[in-house]
Amino acid sequence: MKKRLYNPHLAKIHRSYTIEEAASLYGVFKGTVRAWIKAGLPVINDKRPMLILGSDLVAFHQARRKKNKQKCKPDELYCVRCRTPRKPAGKMVDYQIITDKIGNLIAICPDCESIMNKRISLLKLEQLTGKITITLPQALQHLIDNHQHSVNSDLKQE
Ligand SMILES: [Zn+2]
Repeated sequence: MKKRLYNPHLAKIHRSYTIEEAASLYGVFKGTVRAWIKAGLPVINDKRPMLILGSDLVAFHQARRKKNKQKCKPDELYCVRCRTPRKPAGKMVDYQIITDKIGNLIAICPDCESIMNKRISLLKLEQLTGKITITLPQALQHLIDNHQHSVNSDLKQE
């Protein structure tokens, strides 16, 4: 089951909506609208009933659509159980060699403790060093160290 995405343009930008109105507009339960608020949908707090600006509803759903299309960030892996990209628990991943150029990152989801996997090219692996701790097969560690040394010396020459 994937997270449902809603047409951002259901809401009118120049209107404001109560939770009830927003729910019927998108054809969802009020609890769903409350979950959106928890997830960052802004509300006008000083009024009762609580009001949501139409423009905020549009922006919120547009952002969600974008986010859904987005792949994992370099230091994230997709957790199948959580159905979302997660940063590895303890910022630690293992790298498993598949071919000379491609490998598999293995990490544990910090939320549900499932094993997460991600295909990654050896080149991209270098972008991760410093952000997360990567346990590499010994041979590979030397290779990457050497490469980084040459990059550093290139920089010094400038
Ligand atoms: Zn998870």
